Amino acid sequence: MKTSYGFEFNTVTEIDPECRDYDKAVAECHLANAGMVIVDAEYGQPLDNKDDTVVCNKCGSSDIQTQAWVDPNTKTFIGATGIDRGDNWCNQCADNQLFTTLKKFKEYMQEWWEKLEPSEMERITGLRQDRYPSDNHSQEFVDACTKWWNEKNYDEKRMILKKHNNDE
Ligand SMILES: [Zn+2]
Repeated sequence: MKTSYGFEFNTVTEIDPECRDYDKAVAECHLANAGMVIVDAEYGQPLDNKDDTVVCNKCGSSDIQTQAWVDPNTKTFIGATGIDRGDNWCNQCADNQLFTTLKKFKEYMQEWWEKLEPSEMERITGLRQDRYPSDNHSQEFVDACTKWWNEKNYDEKRMILKKHNNDE
């Protein structure tokens, strides 16, 4: 079987006892959710496919919908109507938005964070630059802010970005 973007996969119903703990956890999750394990056709590895989740390109939410062609008799899905922003809707933005993948949105958030000036980090984290040594480009302050950011989960990061990102 192939995904829409050409990735080949198989399904199995048993967990390979030899696989790594992480893969085992993923496989157990597949079994519990779908009654089968979806594995990579080449390596037989269970797919941790969360990163392929489609999300809103603006806010990163997966609470989204897209227009599609449906067979009116069988109600089966035939295909998406296109890739226009106007075909897509984000419930959280309550607006038409382009979509992206979770993986890409995570990368985007990380890039945004890494480009922030120390003064912006101060405003966002509430940490005070003047409480840290000012030598070496305030490295200790930046490290403390980065630790603060790294401890946030995906949804928390999304909210921080939404509140502080002024790029349109
Ligand atoms: Zn959105």
